Amino acid sequence: MFDTRELGRRPGALKRVSRTAPAPADLGTEVIGVPAGARLEVDLRMESVMEGVLVTGTVRAPLAGECVRCLEPLAREGEAEFQEMFRYPDADGPARRPAVPADEEGDEETPSLQGDFFDLEPVLRDAVVLALPLQPVCREDCPGLCPECGTPLAEDPDHGHDEAVDIRWAALREFAGSARPGGRETQDKQTKAPRASGEDPQET
Ligand SMILES: [Zn+2]
Ligand SMILES: [Zn+2]
Repeated sequence: MFDTRELGRRPGALKRVSRTAPAPADLGTEVIGVPAGARLEVDLRMESVMEGVLVTGTVRAPLAGECVRCLEPLAREGEAEFQEMFRYPDADGPARRPAVPADEEGDEETPSLQGDFFDLEPVLRDAVVLALPLQPVCREDCPGLCPECGTPLAEDPDHGHDEAVDIRWAALREFAGSARPGGRETQDKQTKAPRASGEDPQET
């Protein structure tokens, strides 16, 4: 809540306010957002106008999320600008209401001062969420993950698979590889067996 009492109601009056506040929960999207409790730095200017108080400002906050391509965690600074008009409650009286179509969004678009105070949280929330990248990436040219095996391609750029053929060949190679040492092993045993039965443990 911000207080407008020091501002006064004379049109043209100006007041600057800087404040830090802990971020509310769920400030962000599924992929990126401001961690709950993180420091929100708000700089704003209140300006008294005929109908109410015009609030213009900037909010800065740390962002945490993950790269949509490689799923690596990422952190950066976010900044958003906002502007909102908070009407004087008396200026928004019943006499004016019929002129405005009473649809559901109408009331939210023209928030009123609550006494001498206004609640900036919905405004900050909208501004921050709108300024968030829709598809955050760890870097612009992030190659993402290998669609075959999920390896991050940034770590292994030359990485590739020759489709299903590759898998079959790999299986064949594995088979051939396991067969050959097996054969050697039996040969070794046969050649070793007579020596082991001999009384001399040292081979000459
Ligand atoms: Zn990435
Ligand atoms: Zn792969």
